[in-house]
Amino acid sequence: MRLVFFDDYRLGVVQGDRIADATAALGDIAGVSPQDRLLTIISGWAELRPQIERVAQAAPSRPLRGARLRAPVPRPTKIVCAARNYRENGVHRTIPIEFFLKSTEAVLEPAGTVELPPHQATIFHHEAELAVVIGRAARRVKAAEALDYVFGYLPFVDVSARGLSGGFFIGKSFDTFAPMGPAIVTADEVSDPQRLAIELDVNGEPRQRFGTDDMANSTAALIEHASSITTLRPGDVLATGTNHQGLGALQDGDRVSLRIGDPSAAGGGWPALEFSVSDPEKRSWPRGVDEATAERARTPR
Ligand code: MN
Repeated sequence: MRLVFFDDYRLGVVQGDRIADATAALGDIAGVSPQDRLLTIISGWAELRPQIERVAQAAPSRPLRGARLRAPVPRPTKIVCAARNYRENGVHRTIPIEFFLKSTEAVLEPAGTVELPPHQATIFHHEAELAVVIGRAARRVKAAEALDYVFGYLPFVDVSARGLSGGFFIGKSFDTFAPMGPAIVTADEVSDPQRLAIELDVNGEPRQRFGTDDMANSTAALIEHASSITTLRPGDVLATGTNHQGLGALQDGDRVSLRIGDPSAAGGGWPALEFSVSDPEKRSWPRGVDEATAERARTPR
């Protein structure tokens, strides 16, 4: 099932290019915060799922396009991101797992605007990533069981500022630097997270094109490793890293589109994540793929 929040954090089920309003399946949620609505859905999923399906079948629907979509994970308890983690189209055989935390303040709603800060970065990059939403508390789980802890999957862009002194925190945590969604695709719909195709375009021009089969450490291995360090909680987001062959600049006026899906599945393409970029400083960078970064990422460390 493909779940969205829309309008005043009403619960929607995406069916094709339409949204059915399934809010009534949640009962009285008037005083429940957006994130707690998600946690209610996650914790009660086994019982709620048939109700949500039933309500969605009978509910009025509206076009997905033009709907006021809200962040599918409104206030993640944490955002854990894998650094690198792609073999760069098979060039690297292994890459050690490395994580950083991105500020939860960085969450951007679908169709929102990434605002570039005035800090003098050498460039701001898009990093297209598959992310998971954790479904139950995971502490020291083994990779073989790790996907049982996933509630669902979603497209994620790890917006990154390069060249600023201060490490991952300043590079990754600016407000609006975590566009994600628009839908959470529940785990039952994803038979293998290592067989997904990722496509990111800027202003309609292709940038990133890669498969999750190029990940150096699988989604399950990342969950195993992260959960050995910190307990992953329902509503946490874990992003699985990016392939750097195709990164490019984000700059004022850009329109970004990220599509993820299983090419072999019927209705395989998930709803696309779209967002804009604003730079009050009106800086400019070369358009197209950042080939220097791509080459550096292919170079052995
Ligand atoms: Mn990243």
